[in-house]
Amino acid sequence: MTASGTTARYDRLDADVIVVGAGPVGLMLAGELRLGGADVLLLERLPRPTTESRASTLHARTMEVLDQRGLLDDLGTLPNEVRGHFGGLPLDFGDSPTRFPGLWKLPQTHLEALLAAWTTRLGARLRRGYEVRGLTEASEYVEVEAAGPDGPARFRAAYLVGCDGEQSIVRRLGGFAFSGNDALRELIRADVTGIDIPDRRFQRLPRGLAIAATRGGVTRIMMHEFGRPGTTRASAPEFAEVARVWQRITGDNITDGQPLWINSFGDASRQVSAYRKGRMLLAGDAAHLQMPVGGQALNLGLQDAVNLGWKLAGQVRGWAPEALLDSYHRERHAIGSRTLTNIRAQSELLLGGAEVEPLRAIIGDLLAHRAARCHLATMIAGLDVSYPISGRHPMLGSRLPCRDVVTDAGRTSTTAMLRPATGLLIDVRPPHRQKRWSASARSWPEWVRVVRAKADGDEVLPGVSMLLLRPDGHVAWVDDGTEPIEKALDQWFRPSQPSDRQ
Ligand SMILES: Cc1cc2nc3c(=O)[nH]c(=O)nc-3n(C[C@H](O)[C@H](O)[C@H](O)COP(=O)(O)OP(=O)(O)OC[C@H]3O[C@@H](n4cnc5c(N)ncnc54)[C@H](O)[C@@H]3O)c2cc1C
Repeated sequence: MTASGTTARYDRLDADVIVVGAGPVGLMLAGELRLGGADVLLLERLPRPTTESRASTLHARTMEVLDQRGLLDDLGTLPNEVRGHFGGLPLDFGDSPTRFPGLWKLPQTHLEALLAAWTTRLGARLRRGYEVRGLTEASEYVEVEAAGPDGPARFRAAYLVGCDGEQSIVRRLGGFAFSGNDALRELIRADVTGIDIPDRRFQRLPRGLAIAATRGGVTRIMMHEFGRPGTTRASAPEFAEVARVWQRITGDNITDGQPLWINSFGDASRQVSAYRKGRMLLAGDAAHLQMPVGGQALNLGLQDAVNLGWKLAGQVRGWAPEALLDSYHRERHAIGSRTLTNIRAQSELLLGGAEVEPLRAIIGDLLAHRAARCHLATMIAGLDVSYPISGRHPMLGSRLPCRDVVTDAGRTSTTAMLRPATGLLIDVRPPHRQKRWSASARSWPEWVRVVRAKADGDEVLPGVSMLLLRPDGHVAWVDDGTEPIEKALDQWFRPSQPSDRQ
């Protein structure tokens, strides 16, 4: 029996939602779905978590999102750097409008361990050693075929989400169009011990780009030899080749080093044209492929998951308005496309030859201006994401920056109030003006909590007496007299009425 009772309708469902891939995005999505009350089966081909070194940067919006779910305490104090870059040009992230300015360093493996513990604690069923190899979509369900530890297995669910990374089988078998370009240039990186070379921060030398940083006896080097085209290698380059390329670019001899990990990658840029096809959806690298520059890939995918989780849970729980699930594509495709654009721009600045020097000089001049720095830093950090929501108030569609508040239960913050991942009406009017929302014209949606609060310090929002937050922390409605709350509740939280349907 699934949480939503869907098995009562279709006897043979194994879950409300099957998520393929227990990388960071699949794990985050499974947790969000559980918070929304959906029954989740998470299928992962690896029998145990990978130890491979991959992303290591969390941006401010991801930190806010993890805080919204109460996950930061388990991470302890993370190293923070305010110095980042845009296409290799220094960019200060220190004065972004958030409680988490800067770049937060966390190995992806640690993040995945944290998310796996959270997700399974919430009740998602994580099955390791199951490789999805086939899928069939029927009118009422999706069925996957997997090779499991005990042989072939089949699972059915009302919805299937591919969080299975850049080679996504769900994308391929589901027939999702994936347009863009293959890699035009190749980069190589390696973690090496036993070498003593100077640190290099985005050094553009006459023959190529070189980056080197040593931490705890391990040196990570990354390089691009100008003009070296993108390739589709069957396996990582040999260390001898890595050392030769490094020497050609920098003159350093690293042949005596011992490689721990070697990886080649490129500046391919692709995005699916639809994030949803019927009962199948994609999130994370399965939906968009980008060069891992500036640590945006992982952050973008986690935010896909937080946008999708409550909407899909609402769909399988039966409270979602008709168009809610489709808003996932509308909102996240636009953000993905914008992020791919900034990554392509950075790729040109970083990897182009002498011809990009004039452009670098001009952008370097612009970055001397605070407004230009803030624009790029808030974009890369994901803080300026604003979804199109009708109404005039400038906060609509944006995230609500964390505010300290006092409620009947004591001191808290707007971020902490989002932990259960429900909708939230925050009413900060004086007590004599607060009314009982359950008395509103149509029934109050079960999935929206009302909290009467007052600001602890500055106003919650200057000039605003009530606002409605979605479970992902974005503002769905503001009491500014232009739109009735009923309209916002219908759009985001209440099942469509027969009269609403065409
Ligand atoms: C080698 C490497 C280095 C990277 N370096 C950086 C970096 O420095 N900075 C940065 O921001 N990003 C980097 N990235 C990208 C970043 O790691 C990804 O953006 C992030 O992991 C995306 O998460 P995801 O959950 O969408 O996909 P993934 O992390 O790829 O997770 C997909 C999961 O699906 C599983 N899976 C795949 N196929 C199947 C199947 N058929 N059945 C069941 N399970 C399946 C996989 O085993 C995997 O666990 C790197 C990626 C790689 C591969």
